[in-house]
Amino acid sequence: MGVARDIQTVLEFFQALGFERLPLRIGTVTKRGSDGMLTAGPGGHPAPGRLRPAEIKAAALEALRQEIGDCRRCKLSGGRQHLVFGEGNPDADILFIGEAPGREEDLQGRPFVGDAGKLLTRLIEKMGLKREDVYIANIVKCRPPLNRDPEEDEIRTCLPFVTRQVEIIAPRVIVSLGRISAHTLIGTKIPITKLRGRFSEFRGIPLMPTFHPAYLLRNPKDKWLVWEDAQKILEKLEEAEE
Ligand code: URA
Repeated sequence: MGVARDIQTVLEFFQALGFERLPLRIGTVTKRGSDGMLTAGPGGHPAPGRLRPAEIKAAALEALRQEIGDCRRCKLSGGRQHLVFGEGNPDADILFIGEAPGREEDLQGRPFVGDAGKLLTRLIEKMGLKREDVYIANIVKCRPPLNRDPEEDEIRTCLPFVTRQVEIIAPRVIVSLGRISAHTLIGTKIPITKLRGRFSEFRGIPLMPTFHPAYLLRNPKDKWLVWEDAQKILEKLEEAEE
């Protein structure tokens, strides 16, 4: 249902832009060309036009953001300055999912921009990527008071939105940051120390649970474990290229 709804929102988006029909023949699209554009498949009619997947995904994400609107669906909304939707490349290979915005994120309306965020950015760069190459989101989109853990009803209310982000972006790998994110996405209560470093799955997409960067700020000796997890993520991406 989520994907069907997202397709509908994309169609509505293009309609709102004045397109009477999509500049692409549905049913002939089978693969991306070397330039990253969607192309017609063998035996299909030549595509009358081509759309960048990133543009379609960006439109779907924007439509989702509009749908969330000035959200009052749970009690976290009462204390927030800004809703933190997420940011990055809509067509990213890697989607990082944290727990909830902290103070700095709440002030700026952007994910992972405080001290933990700086460490996450350093990890991304050490992996040979830029922050703009990946997408970064959270399980809940509003800051819990005093940075407490998000409560079950808050997670339940917000989870459909991060799930839709996953479906739209369709990354090759999801990286869950910390206990709450791993427990929510994997649906387990196994300690993060046991979960991390081994691929699990969310919606059919490989998911690597790892430590939260805020934990690493308190326990820098464990940074090498996260680096090990990062190597596995990079290997998984290489496998996908083959
Ligand atoms: N911690 C998180 O889990 N998410 C953020 O966006 C910032 C800190």
